Amino acid sequence: MQLVFASNNKNKIQEIQSMLPSNIKIMSLEDIGCFVDIPETSDTIEGNAILKANYVTQKYGYDCFADDTGLEVEALNGEPGVFSARYAGLQKNADDNMNKLLLELESKNNRNAQFKTVICLNINKEQYLFTGIAAGEIIKEKTGNQGFGYDPIFKPEGYQHTFAQISGEIKNKISHRGKATQLLLEFLKK
Ligand code: IMP
Repeated sequence: MQLVFASNNKNKIQEIQSMLPSNIKIMSLEDIGCFVDIPETSDTIEGNAILKANYVTQKYGYDCFADDTGLEVEALNGEPGVFSARYAGLQKNADDNMNKLLLELESKNNRNAQFKTVICLNINKEQYLFTGIAAGEIIKEKTGNQGFGYDPIFKPEGYQHTFAQISGEIKNKISHRGKATQLLLEFLKK
């Protein structure tokens, strides 16, 4: 079975391929000759995952899955959410984004937040959504230098360290993306 992952992130693609039985072959956007930046114009995380998967299925005819992730902060009514990558501007800079979030939260006591990943799978003319959530809190200062994005200011529930202080292996087990991916893999293996 061939399945497109609507991404060109080689690490993500290899990681998922290595977890799947060998009869399922994952292809990247490049592999199918798709070189456009697929528009992510929805105002929800689910909506953007669906847009990306549908773009590939409708234009190229492949079964496909796509993911989208956002950080939802309780005291900010779920912001930055779908705008997480470009929270502080279109330069999509992680430091700028974290600085803006820390400033917004300066006067707030409630620092609860969650990462949410939604994976949309289009397969055999059906559509399935898989959601993974990692709950935690936004700490006051950046701590740690691993990972990416908001990792240095996000401390997952039950842990004393930020995502940027724990190994990638452990993060994958407890993260939003890791959980959504596990649900996808369980479904595909059935
Ligand atoms: P994407 O949908 O995976 O591209 O994620 C959108 C944005 O959310 C990224 O640009 C990051 O700012 C943020 N983000 C997603 N996943 C993570 C994560 O695991 N740690 C920290 N930030 C993340």
